[in-house]
Amino acid sequence: MNHYVWKCSCCDFVYDELIGQHEKGILPGTTWERVPENWRCAVCGTDRSKFAPLPLDEYLLMCFGADMQELVPD
Ligand SMILES: [Zn+2]
Repeated sequence: MNHYVWKCSCCDFVYDELIGQHEKGILPGTTWERVPENWRCAVCGTDRSKFAPLPLDEYLLMCFGADMQELVPD
């Protein structure tokens, strides 16, 4: 199964449904559809319509780049 995270188009903030957002009272496992309409990006304050789904493996590659290859055991 391909897991997606939701990335803000204005900054690098990412919402992960598996993690939720504790400081906003959004529980782990809250799907994007259930995130409140008035929810805003924690970093730049943009609204949720500006977020786009990003496959988790692409996101990890973005964060760790070439280092990730070294973390994967043979
Ligand atoms: Zn943002």
